Amino acid sequence: MMDIIKKNRFLVAVILIYLVLFMTNMEKASLSVGNSFYYIKEMLMIMPVIFLLTALIEAWVPKEMIMEYLGDESGLKGSFISLLLGSVSAGPIYAAFPVCKTLLKKGASISNIVVILSAWAVIKIPMLANEAKFLSPKFMAVRWILTTISIIIMGYIISKLVKREDIPMEEERIEEGRLLIKEKYCIGCGICRELAPKYFKIENQKAIVINKDIEEQWEEKIRKAKEKCPANAIVFSEAKKPGKRFNKELTEIE
Ligand code: SF4
Repeated sequence: MMDIIKKNRFLVAVILIYLVLFMTNMEKASLSVGNSFYYIKEMLMIMPVIFLLTALIEAWVPKEMIMEYLGDESGLKGSFISLLLGSVSAGPIYAAFPVCKTLLKKGASISNIVVILSAWAVIKIPMLANEAKFLSPKFMAVRWILTTISIIIMGYIISKLVKREDIPMEEERIEEGRLLIKEKYCIGCGICRELAPKYFKIENQKAIVINKDIEEQWEEKIRKAKEKCPANAIVFSEAKKPGKRFNKELTEIE
């Protein structure tokens, strides 16, 4: 029970606030519940499309392509593409988060994610057209230029302050020292087997892990295979404690 409460502490806090509000100001509480349901309804309409989009990115867009165009080495080209992606997007900003998380998992850099999110929030093309109509084209152009410069600088600063390890990814939920293949994503390209033949082999056009006893001298190669895997199918959580390794039954050994 405590685990469930801990995992959903934000939701529990919101429910408690509502209860207090209902006891102290019924009118405001009803108004708040109405607003909440309005947003829940809006999210229920938008989020299935977004989850479909993230699943398509996950399954169809090769990791190497994301790394080339949006990764750490993508430079100005990456910033420009990110700006474009954010500007042509549609929908509320909360829809951008799952998309950005998928891009991040596939190798996009933190600075480019900041650019996408910020462009999505403040310089979407339909928004610019409205701005020019109501506040003049000159106002819109000057704001667009200054906002774009600020967004790129902000992306750079955030990438220095927030590291990839600070962002929770699915992999963190597996046991330390474990190596797995997400079978449904594997396209059987064989890159992992070439890089770490002691740990991977291809069977029925899918990679399988043949040795779960991770030796320290192989960790670098497994990490490389994970990075190079075009389908993002390898999950590897390195053992953080020196000497902590698992045998084939995943029982901890000294
Ligand atoms: S590199 Fe990735 S996609 Fe290719 S065989 Fe290995 S796990 Fe599958």
